[in-house]
Amino acid sequence: MSRRIFRYVAFSIVQDVTAEPEYAARCVSGDESECGAESGVGHHPAEVEEWQRKHTQETRHVRYRRNFADYAVMEPPDGLPVGLQPARVARVRA
Ligand SMILES: [Zn+2]
Repeated sequence: MSRRIFRYVAFSIVQDVTAEPEYAARCVSGDESECGAESGVGHHPAEVEEWQRKHTQETRHVRYRRNFADYAVMEPPDGLPVGLQPARVARVRA
């Protein structure tokens, strides 16, 4: 395993807008064992909330575990993609 030390760069952590965030919920209602019904993955919280309302209406289950996932990218302050040295960028543009 090699370990390289890079110069310090004050990266910003930003949400990757090219990948949709993911929302999901699982019903964890139940005394001894949880229900386990799952909403499936949606790309908007409203889809999952709608599923929860419907499930609660049908079952009177009221407790859910919610998952949220998104993708993040590290953006250097000068806007250059990570790994692209200024000299190499200049060569590409030439
Ligand atoms: Zn349930």
